[in-house]
Formats: sequence, structure tokens, C-alpha cells
Amino acid sequence: MDTKYIFVTGGVVSSLGKGIISASLACLLKARGYRVTIQKFDPYINIDPGTLNPYEHGECYVTVDGHEADLDLGHYERFTNVPTTRANNVTTGRIYQSVIDKERRGDYLGKTVQIIPHITDEIKRNVKSLGNTGNYDFIITEIGGTVGDIESLPFLEAVRQLRWELGTDALCVHLTYVPYLKAAKELKTKPTQHSVKQLQQLGIQPDVLVLRTEKDIPQAMRRKIALFCNVAPDAVIQSIDRPTIYEVPIMMHEQHLDEIVLKKMDVEFTGQPDMGPWMQFLDKLQQADKEVTIGLVGKYVELQDAYKSINEALFQAATYNDHRLNLKYVHSEKLTDDNVAEQLAGIDGVVIAPGFGQRGVEGKFVALKYCRTNDIPTFGICLGMQCMVIEFARNVLGLADANSTEMNPTVQHNVIDLMEEQKSISNMGGTMRLGAYECTLRGGSRASKAYGTTTVSERHRHRFELNNAYRDQLEQAGMHCVGQNPATHLVEVVEIPEKRWFIGTQYHPEYTSTVLSPNPLFVDFVKAAIAYGEDRKAQS
Ligand code: GLN
Repeated sequence: MDTKYIFVTGGVVSSLGKGIISASLACLLKARGYRVTIQKFDPYINIDPGTLNPYEHGECYVTVDGHEADLDLGHYERFTNVPTTRANNVTTGRIYQSVIDKERRGDYLGKTVQIIPHITDEIKRNVKSLGNTGNYDFIITEIGGTVGDIESLPFLEAVRQLRWELGTDALCVHLTYVPYLKAAKELKTKPTQHSVKQLQQLGIQPDVLVLRTEKDIPQAMRRKIALFCNVAPDAVIQSIDRPTIYEVPIMMHEQHLDEIVLKKMDVEFTGQPDMGPWMQFLDKLQQADKEVTIGLVGKYVELQDAYKSINEALFQAATYNDHRLNLKYVHSEKLTDDNVAEQLAGIDGVVIAPGFGQRGVEGKFVALKYCRTNDIPTFGICLGMQCMVIEFARNVLGLADANSTEMNPTVQHNVIDLMEEQKSISNMGGTMRLGAYECTLRGGSRASKAYGTTTVSERHRHRFELNNAYRDQLEQAGMHCVGQNPATHLVEVVEIPEKRWFIGTQYHPEYTSTVLSPNPLFVDFVKAAIAYGEDRKAQS
């Protein structure tokens, strides 16, 4: 079968969940046995989101091959179990950089370099490069932004050209919003009609419409939309709000999205997607009647998306432990020795979040001291792990000034220090230690028991590391360095074995946690939190 290309665009407003719809369609096609990958085009000029503040863009996701990427790639992996790479996220900045590099090399042979055809050709090359690997039957390309944005015009022009070139090997799914006006007690289709018109003006006729809505859209209204928008009535699908995003693939399948796509693309098929394991996950979720309360200590608590992958990994871990996740955000900037007991009251387990810079760090130390001395299950991730080491050095080793050189470049007890390879780097973009590295775990450690193995591969995003000069002191005082990189001996995992569950990872295990393959460390952490919660209840 020829590689098929599916484009997902969005109209009316942003944040409609194009990523979830793309991921859901991929999930269904994968469950039918096809090889699928999803790619996101982001119309901003940044080369990647690595330098963007979480306030701008939510979490920065990291691919196996060390690319800092849009958080939608996290959804793609969580829904498909297929790892993404640099080729799965391309920005306008990357497109321009590549075209300008070619121009400087003289590749354009004296021609004037223009948006059409040079930028659009570069976009098309990036779409097709995934197909040309021969590794996939379907390439789903999500176009970031909203139809009508100036920034996304070159991408949409490339989609128009590709549809023309590829015929039935290309298809466009357009996602819009159908608002409900409370005062009028009516759903409104006009924004959808306008959005499709705008797409048509750009030469793109959508094949499938997915309507995001808070209320059920009656069949008659769907037929009206189909009529106005030149779309087959059965290809007008609604995406009504669900309690969890993981129900979306099932909701899409119930409305035959996968079948409609396959038919339109002339792919012969029989039977149904095998959603068995997925349904088991949803059944567990439905049946879970007890709750586990996890506190997430970080400085971006008011931002839903800043810790997206951690939230999802905790959610999956809770579900596999037959519990509902009650996630409580704890603002690290507001934590003090005086209010920590009250702030962490009722919490079964604490995650100390990753991060950069001084802001909110002291609150993380407060939380850590409280959790360590009260033996509350605690999971430190990246900066969270570094904070675990610093707090331990300050309060157990008695090195009162201990710190990371990130927070205090001239500190005497630099228990966390800049990695050697980072010392000569001055550029900020894409220069951290990024992507998957192997880690060897000490046999018998809690971490190795959780994973069920002593060799793991997890993804990183950091510049600082545990200073090996303090390793012996930490070990002797009870903080064991149980995970290290086999080549560089960089410490990747610390734990205090005498505690219930006190583990810090220099890497980000949340990036590899998916619905069908939850990260074992998260599963074990939540299990320990549940046990601690039950102990507490039994005692009170
Ligand atoms: N700021 C720390 C470092 O660069 C931790 C980074 C993180 O938490 N992702 O090493």
C-alpha cells in the first residue's frame, strides 16, 4: 500500500484538541494493524519550543533522539506507544533555517528564493520525509494554529499542493468548534461554516469535519453542516467533552472515524480495530472507586499544561493501581516550614517537579525536608531529584550552604554542578543533555525492583548533575546513588532505602509513560502512596 497522508487542521478557536483527535485516529489505525506516525507543524519562528517559557507553551516534551518538542508529541506517544523523533515536530523557524542554509550553499542556483515554491517545497519535503522512510502506512500531520492565522498560510498552501499531487493518498480532517449559547439555548453552526469557507478559499476542501462541542449536536444539525460545507453527512463527527481524553478514540470509533478515513483513502479493510487492552484500561478507570491523593510541588501550578506528562503518567499509574487520581498542586513559592504540614495534609505521595532557576526552589526544600522526616512517599524528577540531594546535604550531611551552581554559581558545597560538557556552551537552544540515555540500576534497589530490570533507558533534559565528589558522603549517610550512566558514571537515580519510597531521577520517566505501557517507576510510586494512605487511615 502507498503511504497515506492525513492532514489535521483546526478552525474557529485554538485549544480544540487537534492533538487528541490526531492521536485518537492514530490509535485506531494502529489498532487495525497499520504502522502510523504523527507529525506536528508549529507555525512559530522559534527553532523548537526548548527556549519557550512554560507560560507561553506549556510543557516541553523530549523525544528519544533528544529533540525538544511540542507537548502534543507526548499525546501522540501516550496514544500510540510509538516513539517520536525530531522529524515529528517541525516549526516555521526550522523550515526557514533549512531554506536559508540551502540558499547560502548556493543550492538554488541563482534563483530568487520565495515562500512559494521554496518554503512550501521545504514543508512538503518534511511531510514526505517520514513517508519516505518506508516505516509507516499513515503519516498524520497536525497543522498547529487556527485557519486564518497569517503564520499558518504556507503550511496550508503546502497541504493544498500535496492533496493535489497525492489524490486519494491524502485526506484532510478539519476540527472546529460548535458553541452553545446559553441565553438562546442553542448550538451555533455559523463559526464552523465560516471556518470551512476560509479553508476552501485557500483551496482545501475538508473530507471529514470533527465538531468540538459541549452538548450533543442533533443529526439534523450535522446534516445541515454537511450540506453547507460540502462534506458527506456521515463524515461530520462530533467530539463532545469527555471526563478523560482516553475515551476519545472510542468515541471516534463509535462514529466510524477510522472506517470513513480508510474508505475515503481507498484502503480495503475488514473487521474492527483491536481496542481490547485500551478498553481494559478504561474499564479499570471506570471501576476504580478509591482515590489516591498526590501532591505536585512546583512553581507553575496555575498552568494546566506545564507538567502535562507528569499528570498523565500519574493518571495512568493510579488507574493501573485501580485508584482514581486526585492531583493536588502545591505552589512551591508559597511553602514555608510553618505551613507545610497544612499544605501537605491528606496527601499520600509527593512529586517534586522539574524546573529551572531559583524561583520556588526553597519551597521544594521545605517540602522535601517534611516528606523525608515524616516518611511520605516522594518522587523527585530532574530538578526535583537535584533538590532531594541538596536538602539531604544541608540537613543530614550538615553542609548548610549546599546548593546547585545553577542557583548559586560560587557556592562552596556545590553538590549539584554544571556538567563538564556544558561548561563551554553559551547558546541556549537545544544544548542541554537531551534525549534517551542508558542507566544501570543497582541490583536490589527499590528502583530496579520497580522496573524489574537493572538496565533502563530514559529521557533527559538538564545541564546540571550530581557532583560525584559528594557521592561517598551521601551514600554513607543513607542516600544511595543507585542509578548511573554506564559510560560517564553520571548519577541518574538516588534513593533513601530506609524510607518507604524516596527516589529521585535525573531523567524524566514521565516522557515514556503511555496508556498501554505505563512507566514502572510511576506505577510503583503510586502503589507506595496508596499503601501509605491506607496505613494512615488504619492508624487514625
Ligand atoms: N535546571 C536543572 C538542570 O538544568 C534541572 C532541569 C529540569 O528539571 N528539567 O540541570
